Amino acid sequence: MLQHDVKLKKFDLHTNDVLKRDFYKNRVVETCPICESNWYIKYGFYNGIQRYKCKVCEKTFSRTTNSLWSYSKKNTRTWVEFTELMTENKTLKFCADKLNISIGTAFYWRHKILEALSIDSTPDNLSGVVHVGKVIIKENFKGCRDAEMLASVAPRENIFIIGAKGKEDSMFIKPIFKFKYRWDNDAFNEKVYSKIEKKSYIAPYGDRYIKLVAMKHNRNKSIKVETEYRIKYLWPNLKKWLSIFHGVASKYLQRYLSFFIIMNLDKVIDYMDLIYDRLFEGNRFMKTDEIRIRSSLF
Ligand SMILES: [Zn+2]
Repeated sequence: MLQHDVKLKKFDLHTNDVLKRDFYKNRVVETCPICESNWYIKYGFYNGIQRYKCKVCEKTFSRTTNSLWSYSKKNTRTWVEFTELMTENKTLKFCADKLNISIGTAFYWRHKILEALSIDSTPDNLSGVVHVGKVIIKENFKGCRDAEMLASVAPRENIFIIGAKGKEDSMFIKPIFKFKYRWDNDAFNEKVYSKIEKKSYIAPYGDRYIKLVAMKHNRNKSIKVETEYRIKYLWPNLKKWLSIFHGVASKYLQRYLSFFIIMNLDKVIDYMDLIYDRLFEGNRFMKTDEIRIRSSLF
């Protein structure tokens, strides 16, 4: 019986290495991560993963350097399982208990993944019939040390979020401005309208300002448009989704919205797609202390 267990343990270690090698197999290293020179040579393998040596600064690096999971001491399988649980919208506590990691690690991993996903989730432009709607949510100071103090000196403001869906699976959901009394036309133009192609047709949902923008843009052109339910019901859907996380601090809202977009695209994406297509690409490494610094509402 004991022998059997030992064998399985070895097998586990082996699959762990194979998995890791496979994730990094196609990762492209363009420049030395230390000095950014592109003069480097192949320098053997470590655990089956290609290493390089920079001819300028003489440091060695590999295909795993500066990737999302660089320097993590946990095994590959744990990251994969964590990503899977995340796409199933499990809570941090659930992930921590199930994978035997601390809540702190779970929090850090979640934000690493969210940040990596937010790098390329916003389309540069929206074309075709562009469905535009809005959601207004209250500012949330969750996790902020001075939350109560902040709330007492300045009442929570409203955050205006715009959701837009163009053709070819392009979706845009972003906080645009904070407001007390009025619609901010400049912010809307800069962050949303500038991304909508001139030739496109705007289909507005439930907001008089957006309707005005659409009327002007469409110049009384009227075409029959099929309802885009993801924009029409953006508010109930988003509210339901955010409630899973028991409220999201406003400073992290952008990151969570990027994840929400990915989970709402036409293309059905599973956790393996996320890992292969998004998480192991490019320069995604982030230090623990950057998690908080690199987040902002706008
Ligand atoms: Zn170098």
